[in-house]
Amino acid sequence: MHILIIDDDSNDRFMIIREMRREFSDVQVEEVGEPEEFEQALAAGQFDLTITDYQLRWTTGLEILRTLKKRFPDRPVIMFTNTGTQEIAVEAMKSGLDDYILKSSKHLVRLSTSVRSVLERNETRRRASFYENRLQSLLNQLNVGVFRAIPDGGLLEVNSAFLRVLGLNSLEEIRSNSNFDAIFSKAGDLTPQHRRERELKFRRADGSLIWLAVNETLNTTNGEAVIDGLIEDITGRKRAEESLKRYATRLRTLQELDRSILRAILPTEIAEAALAATYPLLPCQILDVTLFDLETQQATVLAVLSNDGIDLSVGETFPLSDFCNIETLQQNQALLIENLAEQPRLYLLQQRLFDQGIHLIMNVPVIAQGQLIGSFNLGAIQPRSLTDEDMDNAYEVANQLAIAIEQSRMREELHRYTEQLEQLVSNRTQQLEEANSALEAFAYSISHDLQEPLRAMRGFASILLEEYDTALNSVGQDLLHRLASSVERMDNLLVDLLAYSRLSRVDLPLQPINLKLLVRQVLTQLEPSLQEKQARVTVVEPLLEVVGNYRTVEQVITNLLTNSIKFVAAGVQPQVRLWTQRRDRSVRLWVEDNGIGIQPQHLERIFGVFERLHSIEAYPGTGIGLAIVRKGIERMGGQVGVESEVGQGSRFWIELPEFFK
Ligand code: ADP
Repeated sequence: MHILIIDDDSNDRFMIIREMRREFSDVQVEEVGEPEEFEQALAAGQFDLTITDYQLRWTTGLEILRTLKKRFPDRPVIMFTNTGTQEIAVEAMKSGLDDYILKSSKHLVRLSTSVRSVLERNETRRRASFYENRLQSLLNQLNVGVFRAIPDGGLLEVNSAFLRVLGLNSLEEIRSNSNFDAIFSKAGDLTPQHRRERELKFRRADGSLIWLAVNETLNTTNGEAVIDGLIEDITGRKRAEESLKRYATRLRTLQELDRSILRAILPTEIAEAALAATYPLLPCQILDVTLFDLETQQATVLAVLSNDGIDLSVGETFPLSDFCNIETLQQNQALLIENLAEQPRLYLLQQRLFDQGIHLIMNVPVIAQGQLIGSFNLGAIQPRSLTDEDMDNAYEVANQLAIAIEQSRMREELHRYTEQLEQLVSNRTQQLEEANSALEAFAYSISHDLQEPLRAMRGFASILLEEYDTALNSVGQDLLHRLASSVERMDNLLVDLLAYSRLSRVDLPLQPINLKLLVRQVLTQLEPSLQEKQARVTVVEPLLEVVGNYRTVEQVITNLLTNSIKFVAAGVQPQVRLWTQRRDRSVRLWVEDNGIGIQPQHLERIFGVFERLHSIEAYPGTGIGLAIVRKGIERMGGQVGVESEVGQGSRFWIELPEFFK
C-alpha cells in the first residue's frame, strides 16, 4: 500500500507515518510538504490513498481534494485536520471526500481505522463498478435493451442498448414521446413474478419498422411496483422466418403446379391449372397465358384469371403488334413495366389494361424447344417493384407451362397420328378382306367348275385303260397311266381346295366335342391306311372335352394323323401318340410322331397353302392339309403350332376352348 501524506507540518507528518507503519506492515509513504512535491506526486501517480491536512500554507485541503479527484476519481482521500469546520467537512464530502477526521493524538487511532475502511469501501466499490461495467458491456453486446418502468407512470431507466435498439439518443427522447410509455410501462395483465412475453412491431424515429421481443416482469423495489423488462431486436429472425414461410409456400405452390399440370391434358386445362396455382404466389390482380402464332402474327388468350373484373377473355385474339414487344420475348427476356402511368403505352393491350386501372405489367416468355410459343402475363393495379423472388416465380411458371404445353401438343399430334394410322390399317384390312374373299370365291368356283370336266376326263381315261389298254404299245400305255394319275392328283387338289375355301365361306356352328369319341371315329376311318403302314397309335386318356365345330375338328385331326404316319422314313414303323393338356381355359391336343421331322426354318411355312417340303414322289400330297388345319382352328377361335427336330419326329398341337359341364 502506498500512502500520500500531505501536510506542511513535518511533525504531524511524522506522527501520521508512525501510526501507519504501526498499523500496516507493507506500507510505503510519500510525503508532500511543498507544492512542487505535490506536483511530482500527482505526475507519478503512485499512491493508493491520500491523507491531507486542510490548512496548508500554499493551498487548502479542499483544493488538494478537488485536484486529486479530478485526476484519480477512484482513489480515496481522507482529510485529517484541526482547522476545519462543519461547513468545510460537508463541502469536502460533496467533492468526493472519503472521510474527515479531527487532528489530535487521540484521533490518530481513528485515522488508521478510517484508512482501512476507506480502502475496503473503495475496493468494494471498484469491484461493483467492475461487475456493473461487465454486465453493461455484456448487455450492450447482446443488443438486449433493459428498462425499468413504473406501471402507467413512464420509463425510469434504460440501458444504452435499449436506446440503440429503438434508434434513440437519450431517455429524454422517450419521455417526450407517449408512444413509448404505452408500449413499455403498461402493467396490463402483468402479475407479480409472472413473466410476460410479447412480440411487437415498432416504428423507429427514422421511420423504419422493426420487430421487438419484449419480456417483462412486475417486481417491487422499495415498496414500489416496477416493470423490469428486456427488449430485443428480432427483425432479422422475423424476416428469416417470413422468408422461410414464403419459400415453403412457394415450394408448395410450385409442387401443386407440377401436379396439376401433370393431371391436365389439354393446353387450356394446363394453363388454367397453372394460373390457379400461381395466383396466390404473385402480387397481381390479373394473370393470363397467351399463345402466339408467329406465322399469322396473332396472339390468342388461352386462359385468364382475374378477381377484379378486369376485362380480358379466353379466346380473344390480337395482332402480335398490339400485344407487346415480341422481339424481346424471343430473346428469352421478360418485359416489365412497373408503372404504366409513367410510360408511353406503346401497345393497344397495354393501353386497354391501363384504362382498367392496371399499372404494373409483366410478360414472361414461354419458350418450348427454343421457340417462343407464348407468354405468361401478369398485371397489378398497384405500381410497385417486383422482388427477385417474384421474378423467379414468374419464370418458373413460364418454364413449367412451356414444357407442359409442348407435351400436350405432342400428345395431341400422336393421338392424331394414331387415329390416322388406325384408319389406314382398317382401310387396308377391309381392302384385303375384300380381295381375299373375292379370291376365295374365285378359287371355289374354279375348283367347283373344274370338277365336272375333270370327272369326264377321269371317266374317259378309265374307259381307255380298261378297254383299249392292249391296243396301245408300252409307251402309249405308260402315257395313259401318267394321264390317269395326273387326273387323280388334280382331283385330289380340287377336293382339298374346295374344302379349304369352304372353311372361310360357311358358318362353323360350335358345340361341345367329346374328343375321345371323335378320335376313335377318325381312327376307324383311317384304319386301312394305318394297317397298310403298320402304324401304332396310342391315345393317352382321358382326353378333355372342347368346344368346336365337329366336322372341322374331325377334318383337322384326320389331316394331322394322316401326316404323322405319312412323313416317316422308309422302313420305320410309324408310332403316333395323342394326348390332351389343360392350359388356362383351353385344351391343347398333341399329335406326336416318330417321323422325319421338320427343319426349324420351315416350321411356320408349312401351314401355308401349297407349301410342301418334299417331292410328290417321295411323299405324295397337295400341300393344303395343314392350311386347312390352321384356317379351321383359327375360325373356331383356337391356335395351332408345331415343335420338331429333324430326324426325331414332330409334335403338332391344336388348342380350343375347354368345355366345362
Ligand atoms: P401335304 O401333307 O399334302 O404335303 P400339308 O399341308 O399337310 O401337305 O403339309 C405340308 C408339308 O408339311 C408337308 O409337305 C411336309 O413337308 C410337312 N409336314 C407335314 N406334316 C409333317 C409331319 N408330321 N412330319 C414331317 N413333315 C410334315
